[in-house]
Amino acid sequence: MACIEKIYSVSALVGNGSCNANCDFCAGKYLRPEAKENKLYDKNLEAAIKLSARYGGWSLSLTSSGEVTCDSDALIRALKVYQKCANQGAYFPNVNLFTNGILLGDKEFCNKYLDIWRELGLNNIAISIHNVDEKEQAKVYGLKNYPKLETIVSNIEKHSLGVRGTLLLRKGGVDNYKKYEKSVKILIGKGINNITSWPVGNPDNTRNKYTPSRLSLFGIRSWLHLNAKKCHGHAWGGGVFDYKGNILRYTDYVTKHNPKKDFVRQLVVFQDGTVAYSWIREGALCIR
Ligand code: SF4
Repeated sequence: MACIEKIYSVSALVGNGSCNANCDFCAGKYLRPEAKENKLYDKNLEAAIKLSARYGGWSLSLTSSGEVTCDSDALIRALKVYQKCANQGAYFPNVNLFTNGILLGDKEFCNKYLDIWRELGLNNIAISIHNVDEKEQAKVYGLKNYPKLETIVSNIEKHSLGVRGTLLLRKGGVDNYKKYEKSVKILIGKGINNITSWPVGNPDNTRNKYTPSRLSLFGIRSWLHLNAKKCHGHAWGGGVFDYKGNILRYTDYVTKHNPKKDFVRQLVVFQDGTVAYSWIREGALCIR
């Protein structure tokens, strides 16, 4: 049994779990019953941030069992917890909001909230992209229309926040290296030059009918190794690549906690206040 030497990041589920989209493959649905007010949540979020910062962590991800931007009050509360920690020295250079991006296409919404979020410590907004064509993206999200990605980028950058793309690898969508390469090039053309990808799957790290084949994923990883320069690897697999001056990152959706390893990829703060060493809680409890 190894001692933990490093806790790289914190992922916090924020908000009431509501969502303005309706995806067939939604992995957040199973967590929605937990998305209620919880007295322990703020205290345990603070503890998780401080613990990770103490163990060399550098990144806080704000996500949801639904869509975070649909519950801005909860997001502001979570960012206030982070701001308190940062003021006491538990500072993360990367504070990222993960979103489907739908509300970020609305200028009024951005004018109302983005400066507030930034002043509380948010650095980047990561847009989940299933298809670089907005009409196809709308279909995946179960919508009539999806905003133009260029509009989303411009609305976010206007408020001095960084834009990231989460290019999801999904069977029938981006599921081979040719589509990956094409999508990356289009996203760069649309102003998104920091792109993370992972294959969609079940929250317990198993494959499902939307997960691309192992061979296709191998093809994408091989394309990265052949066409981009590796900047650094992740202890849990995958890594960060320099592709013509743009950042491409390949990782897994979920990493199961391994008590024999001396690192934790992320502390996950669930909405019932549980803090676990991974998205798979069993055998990975940290704070209750
Ligand atoms: S946007 Fe995310 S939370 Fe909303 S339905 Fe799709 S997968 Fe689920």
